[in-house]
Amino acid sequence: MTTRAEALPITVRGVTKTYGRVHALDDVSLDVKSGEFLTLLGPSGSGKTTLLMVLAGFTRPDRGSLRFGEDEMIRTAPHLRGVGMVFQNYALFPHMTVAGNVGYPLRLRGVPKAEQAERIERALELVQLGGYGARGIEQLSGGQKQRVALARSIVFEPRILLMDEPLSALDKKLRDRMQIELRHLHEQLGMTTVYVTHDQREALTMSDRIAVVNHGRIMQLATPQQLYDRPENKFVADFIGDSTFLAVTRDGQGVRYGGARLQMDGAVPAGDDLLLMIRPERVRLLDGEAPEGTNVLDATVTELVYQGESYLLYARLEDGTEIAVRGAIREGTFAKLPRAGSAVKLGLHRADTVVIADGSS
Ligand code: ADP
Ligand code: MG
Repeated sequence: MTTRAEALPITVRGVTKTYGRVHALDDVSLDVKSGEFLTLLGPSGSGKTTLLMVLAGFTRPDRGSLRFGEDEMIRTAPHLRGVGMVFQNYALFPHMTVAGNVGYPLRLRGVPKAEQAERIERALELVQLGGYGARGIEQLSGGQKQRVALARSIVFEPRILLMDEPLSALDKKLRDRMQIELRHLHEQLGMTTVYVTHDQREALTMSDRIAVVNHGRIMQLATPQQLYDRPENKFVADFIGDSTFLAVTRDGQGVRYGGARLQMDGAVPAGDDLLLMIRPERVRLLDGEAPEGTNVLDATVTELVYQGESYLLYARLEDGTEIAVRGAIREGTFAKLPRAGSAVKLGLHRADTVVIADGSS
């Protein structure tokens, strides 16, 4: 494991899997680049685990093809796919030691005894558990168990690593740290990685690209920044981050909200049901003149909430829509913010003025 594993691209084409009337996967196509960290993000029941199980070979799809590099994999048994797998519940063998667990894939592959010990220790060092080999599984904390599961998944230097909500059983502090550690491990080892989570912040933190999944379909595949700044549909805009949606009408190449034509940098998508997507932290409370390139919305404050590092302000627009505004608090600034009942002018810069098509969710 001193050298980087030979990574492989993954090609998924037209994969469908039904359980009775449920379309767990509905004609999914996906390209994972060689060495990429790609996350499947979606709500519970959207088909993430099913897709991962198709990649691992534990689930045979009804239709479709799967290639690792040039090789068709659909008929290949799981243990012959060269895939490392980490499950949510760790799936460790409780009666074996740490070393026994980590060495399991090596014994399965008939790796010589002497080499096994060395590779087990190296894998344990990679997950910060050097010297833990002789311990029993039940002596470990949740975070340590997850590291053992991770060591076991990489000990045979798989070309592809699959992880299904591996951090969801850990508390938030440990989860935050493990996200960064997993990311570093991926940079060190360089294997093509498909990671599953329902946690949007985790996905944004870790991924090169994210595939947002809903009802067995991929709603958008893009980098974290593209997904957050330029979601292609309401489902993605809603699932990632907070947003307010305002109905807008097409006006030539642009759009109108209320009486005003909005200044915007991006293009207006096709279709008639158009929504202006507004992220709370992109809205400015204006005092005085609006700066160049800023759209102005008149509103009345309905609620001001203190949240420690930031405030959350709710305001009602003239059409009755409630909009959320978030901003940083520095010492003394909270007391100066407008209270419920105050009339305010909200500024949205043209770069943050994003129009999406409704109806695609
Ligand atoms: P996720 O991992 O995103 O929560 P899953 O892939 O586990 O979603 O499930 C997708 C859909 O397929 C769900 O509606 C689920 O109930 C259904 N499903 C998954 N596995 C089975 C199975 N073995 N038998 C019946 N239905 C299943
Ligand atoms: Mg799942």
